[in-house]
Amino acid sequence: MDSIPAAFDTQLLIGSDFEPGQEAAEPILNPRTGGLILDLPEASTGQVDRAVAAARAAFERWSRTTPAERAGLLLAIADRIEAEAEGFAALEALNCGKPVNAMRNDEIPAIADCFRFFAGAVRSQHGTVAGEYLAGHTSMIRRDAIGVVASIAPWNYPLMMMAWKLAPALAGGNTVVFKPSEQTPLTALKLARILAETLPEGVVGILAGRGHTVGNYLINHPGVDMISLTGDVATGKKILDAAARTVKRTHLELGGKAPVVVFDDADVGEVVEGLRAFGYYNAGQDCTAACRIYAGAKVYDRLVADLTSAVADIRLGLEDDAENEIGPLISQRQRDRVASFVNRARELNHVEITTGGEPMAEGFYYRPTVVAGARQEDEIVRREVFGPVVSVTPFSDVDEAVAWANDSDYGLASSVWTKDVGRAMATAARLRYGCTWINTHFMLVSEMPHGGLKQSGYGKDLSAYALEDYTVVRHVMVKHG
Ligand code: NAD
Repeated sequence: MDSIPAAFDTQLLIGSDFEPGQEAAEPILNPRTGGLILDLPEASTGQVDRAVAAARAAFERWSRTTPAERAGLLLAIADRIEAEAEGFAALEALNCGKPVNAMRNDEIPAIADCFRFFAGAVRSQHGTVAGEYLAGHTSMIRRDAIGVVASIAPWNYPLMMMAWKLAPALAGGNTVVFKPSEQTPLTALKLARILAETLPEGVVGILAGRGHTVGNYLINHPGVDMISLTGDVATGKKILDAAARTVKRTHLELGGKAPVVVFDDADVGEVVEGLRAFGYYNAGQDCTAACRIYAGAKVYDRLVADLTSAVADIRLGLEDDAENEIGPLISQRQRDRVASFVNRARELNHVEITTGGEPMAEGFYYRPTVVAGARQEDEIVRREVFGPVVSVTPFSDVDEAVAWANDSDYGLASSVWTKDVGRAMATAARLRYGCTWINTHFMLVSEMPHGGLKQSGYGKDLSAYALEDYTVVRHVMVKHG
């Protein structure tokens, strides 16, 4: 692969210093081969203490910079990421196994745009007008920074999740101590260099380490005012427990199990093309993946047949990475987890695995899989697989489709496919999901919010709503004379 660095950034950013982690090393693996990239020592509790102390010290000054000053620095970060796009793309492709073109063409532009969006958004916030709501007194609303944010990211889009967390928090005037996933820390440690050269000392600290050690210590830290997590529901519950002790604010983006409702009048060609792309992108390791299909009875057979042949053609594991559409799963553990879901589904008499259903020989690859005939009560329909696996279930009428779609602990993303705009709008209105796409799926823009309902969490990423999440509303009242 091109642009893999001769030496990796392996040091933590604490204050303005770079230093190696002081605790046990965690192996960082290449998911394409299972081979070792490097061993990375994790942060000690003393290093977490110093990163939090540096962020607290920086907060006083950083929170009083003008929006224009902060915007200028966020724009500079975006420019630096673009200037080093090839290096970031190659590093993320190495650590996650993603096709390098997915990084180059999809993620890096979105990452730079996220920093640029929040640079603009913080300069153009709107709110309640100041006025005399009590005679002789003028009231005004302020939106102020919260303090030190502990940000904790997952492994599926490491650099993009970092951008989603850092950009609104910094734009809002907070300082951040960031911990990437222990499986995918490399791009965060590379971005640390840029952040240290761009931002004042202590505004961002970058740690490395596991969840139950470094993460757990960080979320319980008395010097942290807010915790932001993108991760598993179980981890989100631990964050809430930790936050309860000192009433920290929380921003939670947890899992998903996106329903896709395909009505009989949908354009089957477009549905198949959409599912092939949006059900399997990033090897299905995406909390919005189009993974739970409900198909009208008339369209069901054709949809299963066409989807099966389209999915059988997804290119992965090829020597020439430019040919690959998706990569492997992140780890052996994740691959085995996906395989066990599919194996349990296969044992059901009513289920047919029409393509895929097995791991590949090398690395952590799993073949793109279609599970046809699945029923609402089946585990494969209910639980988040987080792999290249899509289930298809026939429905008889709209009420059944909506009831099944909503019958989930998750509430992040959903889609409706039909040529009838009235039916599309009526169905979208009934779905209990943070996002509903119509005749598409998966599309995100910096201006619109991404976030869930129910156990998918309640934090909003992207958009002006994220800036609201990372700031606090205050009232200032002045007595006249
Ligand atoms: P995870 O919850 O295991 O890990 C996420 C992060 O939390 C990691 O950095 C991990 O080290 C840390 N962590 C784990 N235990 C912790 C603890 N006790 N205290 C503090 N930190 C801890 O999740 P994952 O396996 O990395 O990511 C996959 C999950 O993330 C999936 O469930 C997926 O749906 C979800 N996800 C959600 C979104 C979203 O926007 N809603 C986006 C991406 C991923």
